[in-house]
Amino acid sequence: MPGLEDQLRKPVRGMRDLTPELYYAVNYVEEKLTKLAEAFGYRRVETPAVEHFEVLARKAGREIVNEIYYFRDKAGRELGLRFDMTVPVARVLSYRLDEPKPVRWYYFTKVWRYDEPQHGRYREFYQFGIELVGSNSPKADAEVLALMARSIEAVGVQDYTIRLNDRAAMDRILASLGVEGSRDEVLRALDKRGKIPDDELFKLLLAAGVDKSSAELLMSLIAEPRPIEEAPDFLSKYDRDIGERYRALIKALEAYGLSRRLVLDLSIVRGLDYYTGMVFEAFAGEYKLAVGGGGRYDNLIELYSGVKTPALGFAIGVERLMEAAGISQMAIPLDYYIYPLTDDAYNVAVKIADFLREKGASVAVDLGELTLREALEHAAKTGVKYFVIIGKRELEKGVVKIRDMYKRVEFEVELNRLGQL
Ligand code: AMP
Repeated sequence: MPGLEDQLRKPVRGMRDLTPELYYAVNYVEEKLTKLAEAFGYRRVETPAVEHFEVLARKAGREIVNEIYYFRDKAGRELGLRFDMTVPVARVLSYRLDEPKPVRWYYFTKVWRYDEPQHGRYREFYQFGIELVGSNSPKADAEVLALMARSIEAVGVQDYTIRLNDRAAMDRILASLGVEGSRDEVLRALDKRGKIPDDELFKLLLAAGVDKSSAELLMSLIAEPRPIEEAPDFLSKYDRDIGERYRALIKALEAYGLSRRLVLDLSIVRGLDYYTGMVFEAFAGEYKLAVGGGGRYDNLIELYSGVKTPALGFAIGVERLMEAAGISQMAIPLDYYIYPLTDDAYNVAVKIADFLREKGASVAVDLGELTLREALEHAAKTGVKYFVIIGKRELEKGVVKIRDMYKRVEFEVELNRLGQL
């Protein structure tokens, strides 16, 4: 029988099957990150994968709107799959206006984007992130940055940098260069830095209406990141208040011992249109793509609730972070595989299995279709630690025969001493 055609055997383009070894690796990362978020007082939130298209489109910038998985249901509703969790959270808070502020929520869940699949770019992927809603303090900014840094460290990445910029400061900088009308276009061009050659970027700036000398100045401003300690004085040249805000932020970051991880990088603008202040992206080791990003969006919640509410957050791309951390397939151990040789032994095997499970062990009982040799092979392939044989002789003696699959030795254990291995 031919079965499925080849292309139907593979998941839909841009999506991945997570077989147990891979899923356990995701789960391992999820445990680390959720523990961390909880330790900072964040609570987990989940929402439906499907949203009203209008809710999604309201926030999405021009680029993202085209990436929304869009469909109509049978009743004709226009729907879409969420492309991040910031929108659903803003929607939830729009009808839960009484939620005590500041709201500290986190998520670890799937999002979907109809992006062009390539290395590190999927159409279905996991995001871990937080939303801190209802605070305008630079201390909130520091908390979010600290939690992002600790998240990266929590999966074992020690070599990472967070590149930070400020949208409001960029507005002043562009204004000082005489760039007015086409600011979005200029920001979109800057967002491409590093992804396209500098001379092409220069042309994009010209095409966006920036004159040659301003474009040259802009290119030199974004050329090299600056130590974050320089941010207050540098930004003060354009806006005193923004400069002072960064002085306060750096102080708060020092409390977390974090400032050496951060640089001021004026090329970081981020694609999404809703940022109002600080924006940042995290890069880990040699990994080229951002493992995470975020920022402050003080107008977004209002767009949904009608109530002005300052907010910020970050999202980490779980697949990318795992790759940067070198976490992929994970061996899944099984403590015991019990192989009864007779029907009487099967009865005992099930009881022993339950006893061991009570004690927290993972135990599988053979189903009677494999020969002893086949069962041993199966056990070797599936990470079994102890292969337990129970036959007539063992039942009479009140023992089981145990083969330690890792050390490759065999020994007998009395039934009442099982579970002490
Ligand atoms: P964004 O808010 O778009 O910057 O997304 C936050 C993080 O999600 C990024 O820094 C990436 O790590 C991750 N991410 C974004 N798009 C994708 C994608 N198509 N596939 C995998 N990860 C992604």
